[in-house]
Amino acid sequence: MNRFERTLAGRNLELRRASTQVLQLNLGKKCNQTCAHCHVGAGPARREMMTRQTMERVLDWLAPTDIATVDITGGAPELNPDFRFLVTQLREMKRRVMDRCNLTVLFEPEQEDLAEFLAQNEVEIVASLPCYGEENVNAQRGDGVFDLSIAALQRFNALGYAGDANLMLHLVYNPLGAHLPPSQAALEADYKRELWDKFGIRFNRLFALANLPIARFAAQLRRENKLENYFDLLEENFNATTISGLMCRSTLNVGWGGEVYDCDFNGMLNLQWNKTNSLYLWDVDPNQIENRAIATGKHCFGCTAGAGSSCGGALA
Ligand code: SF4
Ligand code: SF4
Repeated sequence: MNRFERTLAGRNLELRRASTQVLQLNLGKKCNQTCAHCHVGAGPARREMMTRQTMERVLDWLAPTDIATVDITGGAPELNPDFRFLVTQLREMKRRVMDRCNLTVLFEPEQEDLAEFLAQNEVEIVASLPCYGEENVNAQRGDGVFDLSIAALQRFNALGYAGDANLMLHLVYNPLGAHLPPSQAALEADYKRELWDKFGIRFNRLFALANLPIARFAAQLRRENKLENYFDLLEENFNATTISGLMCRSTLNVGWGGEVYDCDFNGMLNLQWNKTNSLYLWDVDPNQIENRAIATGKHCFGCTAGAGSSCGGALA
């Protein structure tokens, strides 16, 4: 039993899957950025990428299911050469599609018409912007990222995003350092005021996420000798009311090779239901997922601390 499981057991709780509402696809680790907190360890030199053949197998698996939403992530998923093929197929299958977009990818070579493509396909945008101030964004995500992010948001707004019910644009906040996110509602109000007043930008919702201490963020904390303190902070702030809403209960994650996980974090840690052989999506019966025990580790305290954290923001 790991630390997280002991905490659950001490409260007579257990973590099991509910019905799957969202299929999350990680298209690979290639990214035009190298953010300090990245839990995927993504960057321009990474070559891991979901192939079209794997996408086709995923689409075949998805077709007979009633999973309504597909959440596409990476890396920068748009840099996968078959990203547009996948989105087009999913829209033809009448699925709601979400794209976890880093914003600056709009200004990469051959992505000049990316925003128009996303709008035409009514893809919901979930965009990272860890602050409404330039200094903090550039410190976490790299020099020049803030200006490009603002320009990208203005472009999305010009195409109707956040002004049309079919064109949703959400922002994602995560803390700059080893602390918990502040109140999501208060932060959303601040973001809306500042981005509108300074840049004329509107968006739908802000999701406040905690940083999970894995991959690049864990390495940074280890270098600064803060990793164990951060784990302690997360554990001390365990909030049992977050358990029922954890994203691993209703989201099924698929890695770039087609492997299946309870969440993207478990994917990064190669933590599967089956600990001996890799388990692929096409080996899983969609009717045998509900009620499975979820694979956990001490990183799970990152999702249950304070107000909780999920792909859709705070939980409590
Ligand atoms: S956090 Fe997102 S934008 Fe930053 S390096 Fe990782 S995948 Fe790329
Ligand atoms: S890291 Fe979070 S989402 Fe993933 S299994 Fe643990 S609690 Fe669930």
